[in-house]
Amino acid sequence: MPSGSATQPEVQVSADSQPANDGKNNPDAALSELIAGNRRFTSGRTVSHRRDLMILQQMMEKQEPFAAILSCADSRVPVEVVFDQTIGQLFVTRVAGNIVTAEILASLEYAAAVLGTHTILVMGHSRCGAVTAAIQASQPGATVPGQISALFPPIDPAVKQAGPDLEATIRANVLMQAERLRESSPLLSGLVEEGKLKIAAGYFDMGTGTVTLLDS
Ligand SMILES: [Zn+2]
Repeated sequence: MPSGSATQPEVQVSADSQPANDGKNNPDAALSELIAGNRRFTSGRTVSHRRDLMILQQMMEKQEPFAAILSCADSRVPVEVVFDQTIGQLFVTRVAGNIVTAEILASLEYAAAVLGTHTILVMGHSRCGAVTAAIQASQPGATVPGQISALFPPIDPAVKQAGPDLEATIRANVLMQAERLRESSPLLSGLVEEGKLKIAAGYFDMGTGTVTLLDS
């Protein structure tokens, strides 16, 4: 990360909403900054957009994102925006239903093992269309066009556990995808055991803009 103190001299923010540009170099601090950034977003005190161009120019040679996110592709979940993070801070993978696929797993392994991200946050959200469709698809006679049904098998365990309650299924799916990351990647689980990485689960509430961490 570039030094933050030189990039935001004119930004007037209170102590609790100031971005932690230093101290994001361990899993707990990285997760804390995600939540702090989300609180800046929900309180209308974002600062990242004021630094974008300057930071982009500093990022030409390398990237050192402090956190990786596995989010849904839903257009109402703009990840950098809801965490008030600027260019180069988040390594974002997105797929409908925030499911762990082989390509997603490979991308997140790259983030953690090569780029050195300190946390991976799997984030679901309210009113998720992919989870809604997976619940509907579990009913007899339901069909979807094209290859959309490819999204359903990874979500089905959550549907079986918590369906047809949408919110409960969304939360169950987030926890299951986070667990899948831990269980299916010796590389990631090794980093977790070494204390270099934390894999967390979160829920984005569209109504309030708030991200809440879920206990796994
Ligand atoms: Zn969604």
